Amino acid sequence: MRKKIVAGNWKMNKTLQEGIALASELKEILAAETPKCDVIIGTPFIHLATLAELTKDSVIAVSAENCADKASGAYTGEVSAAMVKSTGAEYVILGHSERREYYHETPEILKEKVDLALENGLKVIFCIGESLAQREQGEQEAVCKAELAGSVFHLTPEQWKNIVIAYEPIWAIGTGKTATAEQAEEIHAYIRKCVAEVYGEQAAEDTSILYGGSCKASNAPELFAKPDIDGGLIGGASLKAPDFKGIIDAWK
Ligand code: PEP
Repeated sequence: MRKKIVAGNWKMNKTLQEGIALASELKEILAAETPKCDVIIGTPFIHLATLAELTKDSVIAVSAENCADKASGAYTGEVSAAMVKSTGAEYVILGHSERREYYHETPEILKEKVDLALENGLKVIFCIGESLAQREQGEQEAVCKAELAGSVFHLTPEQWKNIVIAYEPIWAIGTGKTATAEQAEEIHAYIRKCVAEVYGEQAAEDTSILYGGSCKASNAPELFAKPDIDGGLIGGASLKAPDFKGIIDAWK
């Protein structure tokens, strides 16, 4: 049975103190009522060690939002996968459209990052998804397949077990426009089919595929009710504990 997951992506928000306050509040809320899904918080690097320690005895796992495409050395300002792992973080989000667009992360660069993350014992939440122009041209399937082929379909079946896919249509991220549950289900089913073609039916059945893009407590139940949607990657609504908990509750 594949995992149901609700993962937050704080992006470049929260000072260390604000992050500690948010994670503490979430930990307290979730301790009162055990969630029916895995809960992950993706945070800036500066929070990782502190929050990994703070959430150690809780249901919450911690994720980085990026890691370097080099193992170590003279790369000023970069943070390696080994460094992320050493904080106690379990996951890293890679391939987010903001990283692809603003930091020019190509499929080749992302492939390096994925390899290093897995070599260092991290699990990867790998983001894919089309732009509005690509959707209007009906290219969403081709875009998703190419992004998978370019950065993760070279992995061995054993390595694949540590991959979570997040389908995030770029036109729905932070825009308030959500894909309809039907639109999301259609492409999730297609992504699962692509995984099956490479890794087989069972591996595809076991792969968690999350939806991301203006997901909130009000639309999460309808999205998560679809058979191929295994949870969400949540940006804006992960920045307030009650909002995030509202989405987690969609799995009740
Ligand atoms: C994201 O950036 O991963 C995301 C889904 O953002 P939002 O929920 O704010 O649309």
